[in-house]
Amino acid sequence: MGHSPFTPGVAAGRLPSEAMTRNFGDLHPPLDAHEATVAADRCYFCHDAPCMTACPTSIDIPLFIRQIATGTPEAAAKTIFDQNILGGMCARVCPTETLCEEVCVREVAEGKPVEIGRLQRYATDKLMAKNSHPFSRAAATGKRVAVVGAGPAGLSCAHRLAMKGHDVVIFDARTKPGGLNEYGIASYKSVDDFAQKEVDWLLQIGGIEVRQGQALGNGLSLDALVAEYDAVFLGIGLAGVNALRAEGEEVENVADAVDFIAELRQARDLGALPVGRNVVVIGGGMTAVDAAVQSKLLGAENVTIVYRRGQDRMAASGYEQDLAASKGVRIMTHAMPVKVIGNGAVREVEFEYTEDGPGGLTGTGERFTLPADQLFRAIGQKLDGAPEGLALDGGKIKVSGAGRTSVAKVWAGGDCATGGDDLTVTAVAEGRDAAEDIHASLS
Ligand SMILES: Cc1cc2nc3c(=O)[nH]c(=O)nc-3n(C[C@H](O)[C@H](O)[C@H](O)COP(=O)(O)OP(=O)(O)OC[C@H]3O[C@@H](n4cnc5c(N)ncnc54)[C@H](O)[C@@H]3O)c2cc1C
Ligand code: SF4
Repeated sequence: MGHSPFTPGVAAGRLPSEAMTRNFGDLHPPLDAHEATVAADRCYFCHDAPCMTACPTSIDIPLFIRQIATGTPEAAAKTIFDQNILGGMCARVCPTETLCEEVCVREVAEGKPVEIGRLQRYATDKLMAKNSHPFSRAAATGKRVAVVGAGPAGLSCAHRLAMKGHDVVIFDARTKPGGLNEYGIASYKSVDDFAQKEVDWLLQIGGIEVRQGQALGNGLSLDALVAEYDAVFLGIGLAGVNALRAEGEEVENVADAVDFIAELRQARDLGALPVGRNVVVIGGGMTAVDAAVQSKLLGAENVTIVYRRGQDRMAASGYEQDLAASKGVRIMTHAMPVKVIGNGAVREVEFEYTEDGPGGLTGTGERFTLPADQLFRAIGQKLDGAPEGLALDGGKIKVSGAGRTSVAKVWAGGDCATGGDDLTVTAVAEGRDAAEDIHASLS
């Protein structure tokens, strides 16, 4: 990580533990039964519902909301899980404001959508609380499929394949399954160890063996998997991080935002996690917002996101930007880092203002500095360690149709593959669709 508890500006325990617990509580508390009924009653149960078209997993939203309205939330949950086995996590992390809720006719007409995400959480929580699994396996096919990566794409693929009667082995490089659900998603979106509980619940389908600490490219080769299994699905995400390319970025307390977030997600005691007094985050996406907001919630005094283009070009949605502002994070735009200043550890960051003209982004020559005792890079992840022989496109594994790669018997989906928009729900959809295609090709 590159920070040290002895560096003056970066310290643990900036807030009392009660404040820390409050700060990292549930961002959207769950609906109770009465609230869920009231929220469900706002739905018009549209024919050709636009919300359903906007959902990458095509959940039958009017149907599940009607099932909640008629007092059968467990049937509603089944409707959701039929399309999206990680419907519980998606209910917590989907940017609904740019998907289903953005196009909800009540949003369009009145500026207030049906609370689809919270209703989905209400239903899925109800069924998962019973700790019973709503699906069973088809008769065994005798086919074996290797899934590499236990993130949303790999888990969704594995579950659908297991349901079809195939035997699945998931290989994952990390010590815990879940991918970014476990190591990336902001703490206040997924409280109470939900990611692990969801994986345990999903695995109740049976027929899926998970092998952690198994990295493709490090003792595990694609050729060997192709030789041993009937099909292979790659859901390895984007494990690499883009470099800042600013002078001096190798000093202490300059880190990748994803590493900081992973450490935070795994911390038993948030009070023991060091954070700067002045934190600067470079980037414009969800990762930048999450690193900034969580630094603030840990007790950093001044947190600034600096993005090189205009606010309208930020990948973080308007809702995420508002969330950052509401937590006291400052967002500066049209500036790029040129130099990290500090003797041993970062002390200041020098920026240059930018202009986004017809010829692309250019520096104006005008510079300014921000004090920083901690600097996070959040300028995007990239594919790391794709097996040789796979065709790539734009730095991702090239796929066509339902995730078919250039190599026979090998499929890919989620963040590591072309297409899609690097969201949990898209990864789930791609994993599921690849599983259907694998099943069709094995049958
Ligand atoms: C900080 C952060 C916050 C985010 N917040 C949101 C959000 O709020 N909402 C949202 O919709 N999306 C969010 N996203 C995006 C979302 O997390 C991803 O789109 C999603 O997790 C992609 O799923 P995946 O299965 O393709 O990959 P991942 O979740 O990255 O999972 C890949 C898995 O593959 C494993 N792996 C990697 N390389 C290898 C290898 N060589 N061998 C074996 N295993 C390997 C990894 O250990 C991991 O378990 C966020 C992303 C980040 C980084
Ligand atoms: S668009 Fe809105 S009102 Fe129409 S079915 Fe979807 S949630 Fe209900």
